[in-house]
Amino acid sequence: MGREPLGRFAPSPTGPLHSGSLLAAVGSYLDARAAGARWLVRIEDLDTPRVIPGCADEQLRTLEAFGFEWDGDVLHQSTRRDAYRAAIAGLDAASRVFRCSCSRRDLVGDENDTHRYPGTCRNGPTKPGPVALRFRVSGGPIHFDDRLLGPRQFDLTNLGDIVIERRDGLATYQLAVVVDDAFQNVTRVVRGADLEASTPWQIDLQRALGIPTPSYAHLPLLLEADGRKLSKSRHALPIDPASAPEALVSTLTLLSQAPPPDLARSSTADVWKWALANWNPQALVGKPEVRLSVHGDR
Ligand code: GLU
Repeated sequence: MGREPLGRFAPSPTGPLHSGSLLAAVGSYLDARAAGARWLVRIEDLDTPRVIPGCADEQLRTLEAFGFEWDGDVLHQSTRRDAYRAAIAGLDAASRVFRCSCSRRDLVGDENDTHRYPGTCRNGPTKPGPVALRFRVSGGPIHFDDRLLGPRQFDLTNLGDIVIERRDGLATYQLAVVVDDAFQNVTRVVRGADLEASTPWQIDLQRALGIPTPSYAHLPLLLEADGRKLSKSRHALPIDPASAPEALVSTLTLLSQAPPPDLARSSTADVWKWALANWNPQALVGKPEVRLSVHGDR
């Protein structure tokens, strides 16, 4: 029997929500609601040195002001450390963890560096001092069917082993997201295309932990009009609840939903009504990126 459909949005409270976050939030919300699914919000606040105090509350207030209605309580990853520790211990017991003494500097390679971990400490730390814990990837191909991008194939051997617990003892995003998606029974992951590259590691971790793999849909990556990373236009700035209908309509346009132009002058509730009634994920199929217009307003 299938599991109850369930989607989620998982912001990191390291800065205010911007157009890219809104794209991920709107995409996952519409996907969940159109499937009759519940939709959860999880605050990914594990990277304590980067977490900005008060930012998570601000993000939740912004989501509320934009008319998002999430189900149940918000889960904060900072309350889940025991679960991550238990998962890591399980992986360790199954010989899928090794201690790695490489510093970031040790791993900076030549010009052709692919940022793949070269396996230096697979047989034990190569120098004294603090160690991180790395997950020993299984190697070989990983396939998954992205609901928007289509069939994807990665070779884990080329991706290399990943850190699941940093030297400072903090569990990493890759480990925590897998543990929490399973804990919360998430069945539909919808997120930005920048996270597509993390998916093969996450699937390998799910298999090693014996937990189910959700379905994945990666939304187009939002780029500046000139194709560069989002940075220059007002789209890289915090989203402003005072102009929620306009921002939502711009987001729907970026998501190829073709909202009627005058929808931006309606209320937030009316924008959601239109969006829910007209959600057409087919329009996004096979689109890895979307560029802002030259004026930066669409
Ligand atoms: N916390 C991640 C981010 O803000 C999202 C993780 C995910 O959706 O898997 O980019």
